[in-house]
Amino acid sequence: MSSRPEHSILISPIGELSTELIEEIRREIKRIFGFSIEITPILEDLTFALDADRHQYHSTLILEQLAARMPPKAKKVLAIAQVDLFIPILTHVFGEAQLGGSACIVSTFRLNEGHSGMVVPKKYMDRIIKEAIHELGHTFNLRHCPDHTCIMHYCRNEQDVDRKSDQLCRYCKIMLEDEIKRLGV
Ligand SMILES: [Zn+2]
Ligand SMILES: [Zn+2]
Repeated sequence: MSSRPEHSILISPIGELSTELIEEIRREIKRIFGFSIEITPILEDLTFALDADRHQYHSTLILEQLAARMPPKAKKVLAIAQVDLFIPILTHVFGEAQLGGSACIVSTFRLNEGHSGMVVPKKYMDRIIKEAIHELGHTFNLRHCPDHTCIMHYCRNEQDVDRKSDQLCRYCKIMLEDEIKRLGV
């Protein structure tokens, strides 16, 4: 896929994250989406989204803040967080996205099974990358895909994430190309 230098996807790390992880995510996003990638934190403090009873962070509120803070050049923003995320109808989420919108987030919290440290084992790295691409896919209007191997397949747990590939299926790839054309970038 050709590069689209005038439009970028912004990666916004929240808190101290492994630079190796961020670099891997950058590379894989470039591979799938073809945009130039910028890495700039645009949101640091998540206390506004903390639910005191659940001790978790409401991801929908975080997405609203991210979208509001996006620099004009950026087409999409992907935040990478380390806190436990939720939406009210679910016990937790790996991430969330604005479908066909501009913001998405993925959290390492569940995907790394509580592992902390600046060196991220490959198994966790692969999961986090897959879910980052998955959430970003939603911002390009991709829906959940019935193909178990497709990166847009919905995963209930970490094992489901491990089972799927790091690729879009042929159908989702065409949908992504159409959406990028429609955006006129
Ligand atoms: Zn999804
Ligand atoms: Zn698919």
